[in-house]
Amino acid sequence: MKILVLNCGSSSIKYQLIDMQTENLIAEGIVEKIGEDIALFTYKSTRFTKKKREMVIDNHEQGLQLILEALIDPVTGVLSGLDEIDAVGHRLVHAGEHYSDAVVVTDDVIRVLQECVSLAPLHNPANLIGIEAVKVNMPNCPQCGVFDTAFHQTMPAMAYLYPLPLKFYTSHKIRRYGFHGTSHKYVSLKAADYLKRPVEELKMITCHLGNGASITAIKNGKSVDTSMGFTPLEGLMMGTRCGDIDPAIPIHLQQQLGFTVDEVNTILNKKSGMLGLSHISNDMREIEDEILIKNNPKAIMAMDVYCYRIKKYIGSYFAALNGLDVLVFTGGIGENMSMLREQVCREMEAIGIKLNLEENSKRIDGIQVLSAEDSKVIVLKIPTNEELMIALETESLLRQEK
Ligand code: AMP
Repeated sequence: MKILVLNCGSSSIKYQLIDMQTENLIAEGIVEKIGEDIALFTYKSTRFTKKKREMVIDNHEQGLQLILEALIDPVTGVLSGLDEIDAVGHRLVHAGEHYSDAVVVTDDVIRVLQECVSLAPLHNPANLIGIEAVKVNMPNCPQCGVFDTAFHQTMPAMAYLYPLPLKFYTSHKIRRYGFHGTSHKYVSLKAADYLKRPVEELKMITCHLGNGASITAIKNGKSVDTSMGFTPLEGLMMGTRCGDIDPAIPIHLQQQLGFTVDEVNTILNKKSGMLGLSHISNDMREIEDEILIKNNPKAIMAMDVYCYRIKKYIGSYFAALNGLDVLVFTGGIGENMSMLREQVCREMEAIGIKLNLEENSKRIDGIQVLSAEDSKVIVLKIPTNEELMIALETESLLRQEK
C-alpha cells in the first residue's frame, strides 16, 4: 500500500509518499508561495536528489496537480499511474471537541472543519482547500485525516477548562485544545515499543521542541494535559512565540503603551520567544553558536529562560501524573541539541531524572537512551515522524473500512 500524506498550509502543500510495507519514504517535497508572483516547487525521491523549480501556481489545485505530475513523470517519477496511490492522509488542524481519532474524510468532517474555522482561521481553510484539490485531481482516491487536536481530546475537564466565566466555554468553546497531537502520540507509542512495555502501563512526559514547542503528560497512552492551549501560543517559550505570560500584559501593551491589537498579536507570536529575548535568532543552532563560541550573555540568558520553563512544566506534570516512567525529547531542538537536554535535566534527581552525560552528547540517528543506569526515569530521544503516524492511521482506517 502507498499513501500520500499532505500538509496543506495557506500558501503551501508539503507532501510525502510512503510505502507502507517498508514504512519507507518514496518521494517528498513542498510547493510554496502558492498565489504569489513566483511559486517554488522543491522535491526529491528515491530516484533523484533535490530538484527546484520556479513557476506561477495560482491555487492549491494546480499545486497538487504539479506534485502528482512529478510522481508519475515517465523519466523521473516513482509511480506508473496515480491509481498506485491507495489513499491520501491529510494533516488536519482543528476539530474543536470532535474526533479523538483519525477520520475518513466525509461530509461531516468537512462540516466540522468549516465549523472550526474561527478556532484556526489560517489552517482550517487551507485544509479544506487541500481536500477539495484531491477531490478534483484524484476523484476516486479515499481521503483520511488526522487532526492536530485529536490526541488531546482525552484531557479531563480540570486540565482543559480555563478559570474564566463558564459561558466562554459553554457558548464560545474557549478551552485548552492542545496541538502537536500527532507527534506526541507517535513518540509515546515508539517509546513503549522500544521499551517493550505496554503504553497502557506507562506514565510519560513528551517534549516536542521545534520551532513551535509543546509538552504533554501521558498516562496509560492517553494525553491528560498539554502545554499549548486554546491556541499554540500558550505554554513553553518558543522560537518566536512567548508562551505563558501574565494575561494582563497584552492589555497593558494596548492601554498604556498604545499598541494596536494586530501589533500585540505580532509581538506575541512573531517577535517574542527566543528571538525576542536574545535579539539574535529564533534558530537554536545560532543561539548555541553564540553561547559556545562567543559566550554571548544574551544568548545564555535566553537559553536559561527556555530551559527553566521546560523544567517547570516537567515538574508540574510529574505532580499531575503522580510519578514518571519515561521522559521523551523530540522535534528539531529536542532531537539535536544535547546542551539543552543537559540543562533541562540538570538537578532533577529529586524527581528521579538523571542523564548519562556522555550518551547525551553523542550524535546518533534514531532512538537513543539518554538516562543514567541509576536514573528512575528513562530519558529517551526519539525522532518524531508525524507524516508516518498519519500514514499509519490512514492505513489502519482503510483496513477497518474494508
Ligand atoms: P522543527 O520545527 O521540529 O523542524 O525544528 C526546527 C528547529 O530545530 C530549528 O529552528 C532549530 O532551532 C532547531 N534545530 C534543528 N537542528 C538543530 C541542531 N542541530 N541543533 C540545535 N537546534 C537545531
